[in-house]
Amino acid sequence: MKNSTIKQHKQIGKELIPPFMQEPIGSVMHLCSWSKERLPEYVWIGLLRDSCISKTEFFNKFYYLKQYMLQTFSEPCDKFSLILKLDSTKKEELYDKIKEIFGNNVLDPIIVVSNYDKETRKSFIDKSKSNNQRIDKLVDIIEKMYDRHSDFAMDVRYSALILKINKIYFPKQDMIIKDAIQKYPSTQKDDPLLDAYKISLSSMEGMDFFENNYEYSKYFYEEMYLMTDCKPKKLIYPENSNKELLIDKTKELKKLILKSEEIKADDKRDVIIGNITYVYKIVKEIIDNELYTSITSRLVLRTIVEIIINIKFLCSQEKDNPDIWKAFKDYGSSKYKMIYKRIEEGTTLSDNCTHFDEVILKLLANEIKSEEFLKVSFKDFADKNVRQKFIEADEKDLYDTYYDYDTCFSHGYWGAIRESSLLICDNPAHNYHSVADTECEQKLVNCCDDLIFLLDKIISIMNDEMGVK
Ligand SMILES: [Zn+2]
Repeated sequence: MKNSTIKQHKQIGKELIPPFMQEPIGSVMHLCSWSKERLPEYVWIGLLRDSCISKTEFFNKFYYLKQYMLQTFSEPCDKFSLILKLDSTKKEELYDKIKEIFGNNVLDPIIVVSNYDKETRKSFIDKSKSNNQRIDKLVDIIEKMYDRHSDFAMDVRYSALILKINKIYFPKQDMIIKDAIQKYPSTQKDDPLLDAYKISLSSMEGMDFFENNYEYSKYFYEEMYLMTDCKPKKLIYPENSNKELLIDKTKELKKLILKSEEIKADDKRDVIIGNITYVYKIVKEIIDNELYTSITSRLVLRTIVEIIINIKFLCSQEKDNPDIWKAFKDYGSSKYKMIYKRIEEGTTLSDNCTHFDEVILKLLANEIKSEEFLKVSFKDFADKNVRQKFIEADEKDLYDTYYDYDTCFSHGYWGAIRESSLLICDNPAHNYHSVADTECEQKLVNCCDDLIFLLDKIISIMNDEMGVK
């Protein structure tokens, strides 16, 4: 279907309203989710579709049912909850018609989610079937219907649409929808028009006319949840075989660090070797504890990337600002100063935080210069934001991928939480809800290759800036 142009939208206040949401249909239409809100209502049509071998057979039969329903019922009854509300006589008549066209027990599985409806049970029960068989069949039908663009779901959605067709207003110019409605049942899989019809019908069926009561769907999923088991599914990623190469890289880095001890100590050497030894230690922790697929590895990657940028940035500024190495140290020391001052002056509770010793913090902060001469800066040592530093260090690509992705983990953003800590239940009858991964089964993609890539950058810094090879 051709989407509407902006010109076809109508401005109302501060909103541009697309044609389908304009009056007269706008006020009777509600957008809702296929899988969560509408699918359960049409499982009965799914069962009818499933009872037929081909699309042609199904639509030949469904045509008669549609004619009967449109002639017999003035009220809409495309949804199962509406069928359940029909009075007994009308309901039995409808069920007799369904049986006459599609076969005696065709809706047998639905009796377990029919609110104990007497007529449904009496009309369709197949006594040779157990409830477990009924439930299995429903799960199978939900799975077939779940992807709203699948051939099966489209047949069901089309059928649902034509059951209310005489109650829908079509904009005059929309010939494609009219074509799609007329021709969809006889359009075969290999026909290039099929996709266009599907898109067109899909947008039409996606609107819920007249009715926005989803109580039945809620009830349906609650029942299915109770009657079937959860199937938490973890994602499996290929094992990375570059562990040995990573171990070799860290050994190489260790050699370079030891070699750098021959260099005369100054602020630059302290800062670069200190930072790189810090990287060496955290990578060793990953290796020694086999944390390649952990959340921790992401926190480590972010730290390493930031360290690379800091060093490269400092080196790039050195020429114009030889004191920048001192500024880097002072900035870090002043961070420690602020922490122990708050404790000393009683403006914070020290007892709550036990993973540091404030005496050590004080000693370290005063190591280079007395705290009386140590300014506390509220801006970064370079007075630049993170992104600017990446750009100036000519490493914007590191920012766009590594830094941004791993920051999601260190900040606890939703993407990282969803990826690492929630499993999706693979039972369609549970609506693919999430399950907390308390057994720590979900591993993340192995980070070995990325650690190697970053260690290579660190080794280049050792070569280029420290002259250690
Ligand atoms: Zn589940």
